[in-house]
Amino acid sequence: EDMKLLVTGGAGYIGSVCAQRLVESGHEVVVVDDLSTGHRDAVPAGSRFVQGDAAEVAHDLLAEGFDGVLHFAAKSLVGESMQDPAKYWEGNVVTSLGLLAAMRKHGTPRLVFSSTAATYGEPEQVPIPETAPTRPTNTYGATKLAIDHAITSYATAHGLGAVSLRYFNVAGAYGAYGERHTTETHLIPIVLQVAAGTRDQLQLFGDDYPTEDGTCVRDYIHVLDLAEAHLLALEHAAPGTHRIYNLGNGTGFSNRQVVETCREVTGHPIPTVMAARRPGDPAVLVAASDAARDQLGWKPERADLATMVRDAWQFTQARHAQ
Ligand code: UDP
Repeated sequence: EDMKLLVTGGAGYIGSVCAQRLVESGHEVVVVDDLSTGHRDAVPAGSRFVQGDAAEVAHDLLAEGFDGVLHFAAKSLVGESMQDPAKYWEGNVVTSLGLLAAMRKHGTPRLVFSSTAATYGEPEQVPIPETAPTRPTNTYGATKLAIDHAITSYATAHGLGAVSLRYFNVAGAYGAYGERHTTETHLIPIVLQVAAGTRDQLQLFGDDYPTEDGTCVRDYIHVLDLAEAHLLALEHAAPGTHRIYNLGNGTGFSNRQVVETCREVTGHPIPTVMAARRPGDPAVLVAASDAARDQLGWKPERADLATMVRDAWQFTQARHAQ
């Protein structure tokens, strides 16, 4: 059944891929983005675009009557969140509370929220289930966890139907929609910048972690598999409940393995130097995503790391060719 949906942060990496998939699926999509990190040309054709703060825009716009909100808009750099916490508490928590207030005022029934593996912190147990303790090691994760708690309360008290999706490491691209941050901090896009010749070398942050090759291990998920989970979450959002699902493939790749895969895909040697650990980085983050599979019927179809790197590389090359 087609819905009218507000997509906050729909000019960003994950938001634009999801907005594009929602448009393709026949939904009516309005994108709101302040373009602080997003790009106007990443807003999918066939959607309506409003530039501004998610909460402010929602206060007026939701009066039109929407079936749901997908809330991607956020500050999302771990390092920056430690140096400038106010930007994260205000930009993430205050904005999300404003959005929830607007949804309540206008009776918007559904919310799908972008949560994160960073809510768990250093895990006691891997793969990490949703029942694991949440002890974020950085401010970014703490703000996302605070919003998750608020959503739970609002769902219980006010009948909101909400789903939080806890992303592990998102990679890959979907055609013209991919990762292009002005300040890039993520491993795969940085490695691909080296392969594309716009960066000299990769700094590997730490090789003395308690893992097989000493580098951190992460669970990578294709952005298109992630988008499909959002479509399913929308259908499954039930009034008065807040469900939380991990989204990952359940397989860990070390940073060295990621670099090796990038070498194979790009044919570039990717010069690498060792550097100090990055504060706030857990050694291993791997998801148990059985709940999303069992309850949402979600099935990731691009679990192969080389596929993700190939799609991201194609996107990078197409942008350089422009
Ligand atoms: N990393 C690295 N060099 C870089 C960027 C990232 O060694 O230039 C490492 C980082 O320390 C972590 C892994 O790559 O162990 C994944 O980091 P990313 O920022 O991509 O995602 P995160 O897991 O922090 O969400």
